[in-house]
Amino acid sequence: MSHDFDPYNADRPLMLQCSCGRDHTVAEHQQEAAASQAAAELRTRSESSAFEAYSNAFIEATLVKALFPQDAVRRRFLRAVGKGAAMSAIASVLPVASLQAMAQEKGALEKKDLKIGFIPITCATPLIMAHPLGFYRKEGLNVEVVKTAGWALIRDKMLNKEYDATHFLSPMPLAISLGLGSNATPMNVATIQNTNGQAITLALKHKDKRDPKDWKGFKFAVPFDYSMHNFLLRYYVAEHGLNPDTDIQIRVVPPPEMVANLRAGNIDGFLGPDPFNQRAVYEEVGFIHVLTKELWNGHPCCAFGTSAEFIQKNPNTFAALYRSVLTAAAMARKPENRELIAKVIAPQAYLNQPEVVIQQVLTGKFADGLGSIRNVPDRADFDPMPWQSMAVWMLTQMQRWGYIKGDVNYKQIAEQVFLLTDARKHMKALDMKAPEGAYPKFKIMGREFDPAKAADYARSFPIRKAA
Ligand SMILES: [Zn+2]
Ligand SMILES: [Zn+2]
Repeated sequence: MSHDFDPYNADRPLMLQCSCGRDHTVAEHQQEAAASQAAAELRTRSESSAFEAYSNAFIEATLVKALFPQDAVRRRFLRAVGKGAAMSAIASVLPVASLQAMAQEKGALEKKDLKIGFIPITCATPLIMAHPLGFYRKEGLNVEVVKTAGWALIRDKMLNKEYDATHFLSPMPLAISLGLGSNATPMNVATIQNTNGQAITLALKHKDKRDPKDWKGFKFAVPFDYSMHNFLLRYYVAEHGLNPDTDIQIRVVPPPEMVANLRAGNIDGFLGPDPFNQRAVYEEVGFIHVLTKELWNGHPCCAFGTSAEFIQKNPNTFAALYRSVLTAAAMARKPENRELIAKVIAPQAYLNQPEVVIQQVLTGKFADGLGSIRNVPDRADFDPMPWQSMAVWMLTQMQRWGYIKGDVNYKQIAEQVFLLTDARKHMKALDMKAPEGAYPKFKIMGREFDPAKAADYARSFPIRKAA
């Protein structure tokens, strides 16, 4: 018998090399082959002049929308100054208009070899897919996207500068900048990675407990304290009369461990990122109770960001990064690309999931674990706008649950961390009337949030942490 194989040894795995010469299973081989084929097709799509025009228009529209979230203001401004003047005014003040020009001129990159952290969840789709699709390379960057075990580790690797930029939960840069849970270090949200795309998943044995009033004593997992998951779960149960600090337990569990914990009965449910809600259905251990889209349609979740110091030291590199990620977001927003994207991000190096699970998340056609197939095309979306009112909402919830004590200068912090600010500042410097508009209102579970009345809002909830 050959020494290479020992099929009768119970203590050794029997590894048969794949015919391609690598140590992986046939299924993994097929998944990788499908991924590179899909990546090639998406690359072809991305190189078409139609996509380039679309992508540039997408980036420009994103920026104009950032300046004029209220369409009436945008139209008033255009009527007042005319299209040509408006375009040159916007080009002169927008960071990313100059970023676009910069990327086209291929301005000298201060740093080319970069490490970017990510957690293997569908929220990170644009940041991940930019790698196999060659969007970073196209900008002259040699990016390594590094799969990371949990959010505390992401924070620590940003603080010790092991990572140049990263996938964040969007409240994290606020928390780190405020020194909550770590030394205060200024961090920025450059773009929101994804909107919607989360769910409350419950163990199958709770099929008949769909009313949160029946959840007293339940144990829930969320990915991190400073996460939309934690804030939305707290908001949701409190709207149903439960106090999240005393009526249920909430514990932090890294997303890739959520399904195993549900199976083992350590938790009754989780408000987690996908693909783990869908994975729980696929494994037949849980069902999707509610999509977070149904609580707040368009809510932000994850972000792409880096430290203020990195941006100051490497403005051209940051510009190139920003453009790569926005290009990927432009691609990911198109429904016709979603099936191919699922193939590209499914393999072991990225999400390490069955393609069918990712497919259901990204296309929005999915089994809910209760016997129904649902069709929700915007179950997950990739709208990059870092609205500052989103940051203000997060701050009100941090106050509400005692993560922040005392008064908060909402606007100052939001504008310092969520990068829409510079444009407004420059417009004022140019004596242009900066549009009052980075603060659109939102509706969460039917209730309007007005960022102009944030302090009253934070105090208005009957269920909150006692001061
Ligand atoms: Zn192989
Ligand atoms: Zn997320």
